[in-house]
Amino acid sequence: MRLYNYMEEVVKDILEKLLLKKQDICKCQKCKFDMMAHALNRLPPKYVVSNKGIVFTKLQEVEIQFRTDVVKEVTRAIEHISKNPQH
Ligand SMILES: [Zn+2]
Repeated sequence: MRLYNYMEEVVKDILEKLLLKKQDICKCQKCKFDMMAHALNRLPPKYVVSNKGIVFTKLQEVEIQFRTDVVKEVTRAIEHISKNPQH
């Protein structure tokens, strides 16, 4: 069993999907982490206890509920970081 911030998973997933549509920006690991950090600092954490199958049902509800906000923040993070890459 472990405790983790499910928001991280949602942000990571949405970031990967949004980056697929972006052609002309840096997508290195450093920029991806910077984008995740930027978005996560603006989103509420969503801590869940992971105990095998039980967590998945909960996760889908959380995902639907927060997806719009997450997409908005991740889009903002991509724009911010791609304009000011930290390397
Ligand atoms: Zn980069």
